[in-house]
Amino acid sequence: MLNTSPWVARADREVESEVLILGGGLAGLAAGSLLGHRATVVEAQERPGGLVRTERIGDYWFDRVIHLLYFSHPDVENRVRALLGDVLQPCPPDARVETARGATRFPVQLNLNGLPAEVRAACLEDLRSAHERPVAPDNYEELLLSAFGRTLCELFFFPYNRKLWRRPLSSLSASGFHWNLTRPSVAEIERGANAPRPTGGYNARGWYPRPARGDWRGMEVLSRALAGRVGDLRLRHVVTAVDPNTRTVRTRSPEGVTDFHYTRDCLSTLPLPTIVSLCAQAPAALVEECRDLPRNRVRSVALAVRGPRPRDTGHWRYYTREDVPFTRLVFMTEFDPDMAPADGWGVLAEVLEPSEGPRASDESLVADVRRGVAEVGLLAPGSRIVGSSVYTSDPGYVVFTDATRETTAEATRFLTSRGITPLGRYGTWTYSSMSQVMEEAFAWAAESPALTA
Ligand SMILES: Cc1cc2nc3c(=O)[nH]c(=O)nc-3n(C[C@H](O)[C@H](O)[C@H](O)COP(=O)(O)OP(=O)(O)OC[C@H]3O[C@@H](n4cnc5c(N)ncnc54)[C@H](O)[C@@H]3O)c2cc1C
Repeated sequence: MLNTSPWVARADREVESEVLILGGGLAGLAAGSLLGHRATVVEAQERPGGLVRTERIGDYWFDRVIHLLYFSHPDVENRVRALLGDVLQPCPPDARVETARGATRFPVQLNLNGLPAEVRAACLEDLRSAHERPVAPDNYEELLLSAFGRTLCELFFFPYNRKLWRRPLSSLSASGFHWNLTRPSVAEIERGANAPRPTGGYNARGWYPRPARGDWRGMEVLSRALAGRVGDLRLRHVVTAVDPNTRTVRTRSPEGVTDFHYTRDCLSTLPLPTIVSLCAQAPAALVEECRDLPRNRVRSVALAVRGPRPRDTGHWRYYTREDVPFTRLVFMTEFDPDMAPADGWGVLAEVLEPSEGPRASDESLVADVRRGVAEVGLLAPGSRIVGSSVYTSDPGYVVFTDATRETTAEATRFLTSRGITPLGRYGTWTYSSMSQVMEEAFAWAAESPALTA
């Protein structure tokens, strides 16, 4: 029988380090930046940053997905501000929601005042009765109903979440989605229904890099600054096999096959299904369960537009309507006016696909998004789309069902029992923000024996 073990062939070269970090997204870079020369970071792509990369179409810049930084912890804030200095600028978010009954500010539940009087009244009546008769929700659909009442659900939460999750909301777990839900009290919702809320409330302290000059713009500026502090960063190195028993990780790169040996720690920020499947000794049943963990891929469609910038868009807008493919549009020049030439602007459309389903071609996605952007009235007469691109993030959004938690707990137990720490958004199979993954990574690195011994 043919021996298919990835370890049969000898490596072209060997590298040794105290700590080995798999994946050079924000989590891997943050941990690596603290450990300096003690750590090696291996990353598959040709630029560091993972999701936090910014792409160019000529003079137009697009983050691969919307990225606004909110600090989750003072330690992260201190480190990132020390790293970026004045380049990091306040960017208080201004987001909008388009519904079939009018537009208002996001989050809609705190900004009902923007909607017509009869819609507000119906929302409030349903909301009060939902709160008077609370039920323990069994699934995500019931959770939304019990939190917001039927009218607000039918106006926003149901159509928006159906577009986002692309599967029945009743098949999703009632827990796990809290990152995506602001749940104010009835009194707060009533206040927001009666008068516009003062600015500076919900998640008001957003930040965005706006370099005065330099060769890069967008949130990737943060990834690049962190990467600059990593002692040994190996790009274009795809991890192909992991043997925790011999503390060896094999990679393939344009230079050939390399075996990386670690003497102390291994941190994996690779998606949980990937790292489990690469691990020698992983039980076949666990590999299979991880492979089947449900998730959605994000297709980000970037359009570069020549023509006047639309007014009063906010940084991003959510769309509930079924006849446009995107869940939201992101206006890049609202984050940094220099992300497009003065006579143009860039829009990033977020389109979701279940990862297990078919993948639309880039051409058809661009055509659908172009139609949608025109349909929602954003293109002034005479405007021209002068460039387009599609960036795919898979996994993008992990999906929680009742079975998910058990599988991820089992996978985490398996990895840690073999001396590998899973970390990061997809390493832990959660919904971490940039700040949260950096917080976890800095904390992990600070505790590493490589620093403390
Ligand atoms: C649509 C969307 C919008 C978001 N908006 C925000 C926001 O506004 N604000 C915010 O704070 N956060 C936001 N986030 C979350 C934020 O992007 C993540 O928390 C963060 O980027 C995760 O970093 P990470 O290092 O954990 O993962 P990743 O960036 O996925 O890094 C993992 C790295 O591992 C590498 N890798 C994978 N397989 C291999 C392999 N076999 N060999 C070698 N390398 C490999 C990948 O190339 C990647 O670089 C958003 C996320 C999404 C999807």
